[in-house]
Amino acid sequence: MIVDVHTHTPRYRDRVPEAAAGQVNTKWSTGKAIQMAYTWDEFNAALAPVDRAIVFNIAADPRNLYEIDEPYLVPVPAVNDETAAFINAYPEKYIGFVTVHPHDPRAIEEIERGTQDLGLKGIKLGLNYQNTDPLGPEAFHIYDYAQAHRLPILVHTGTSPVRFADVDYAHPRHLDRVAMTFPDLTVIMAHIGHPWQADCIAVIRKHPHIWADVSGSVLRMWGHYNAMRMATEWGVLDKLLFGSDFPASTPLETMERLRDVNGVIRGTALPPVPEGEIEEIIHRDSLALLGLA
Ligand SMILES: [Zn+2]
Repeated sequence: MIVDVHTHTPRYRDRVPEAAAGQVNTKWSTGKAIQMAYTWDEFNAALAPVDRAIVFNIAADPRNLYEIDEPYLVPVPAVNDETAAFINAYPEKYIGFVTVHPHDPRAIEEIERGTQDLGLKGIKLGLNYQNTDPLGPEAFHIYDYAQAHRLPILVHTGTSPVRFADVDYAHPRHLDRVAMTFPDLTVIMAHIGHPWQADCIAVIRKHPHIWADVSGSVLRMWGHYNAMRMATEWGVLDKLLFGSDFPASTPLETMERLRDVNGVIRGTALPPVPEGEIEEIIHRDSLALLGLA
């Protein structure tokens, strides 16, 4: 079984409207142009190599305080209605996460609507895109609810090319304080916190319910190799979950880059990442580990 724990909801059921058709992001991945608007069919085709996937987008700021050019940011309630409509069309394959903006006074109500009425099973936060301090009272309110209701949270960690997304709010080290305050909360730190994979590893090593997904980190091969070697030496390869961050990358490309992790050291005396462990990451039963099976 292959589980992709990190994908972004397709916003268009049948066809991409002309105004959105040209949306391309050239900043996420060095040297690559990523198609930002895609249909249900295009998403399904890209996700064909995996058995199950977790799907979400990110709630935009209801106050419209900041001009953040990030196509995953969608206003509530549409953002959660779109995810629910999509996952309910393919209930055998996809699991949806609700997203809220922590500064929204109706955030908890929207989590309740998402989990109780729409059938969503966890929470997605992108605190740097949401101008929210991961250690502030608004975020803590969400963690508290999530812990009490056994809802896993997938939180963006790692840098971003988005100019007005606060780099410090995305730093993985903050999750240590979160995990100490909420010891039963399940969290997936996206992207192994790239390029601060070492800080992410320091956190996942300590806390049994804190995981990291490999998406994005695999796109830069030297950083990817170093992160995987560090995870090997610190004994946390078993805390890494397979994720693609589609559309930023596809599951197929992510698998290829995981399997090619030792490509950059070929012909050198540098130590390899054990290949069997790579297959374990690809085939990990993440849904069971997250309490979603
Ligand atoms: Zn993402």
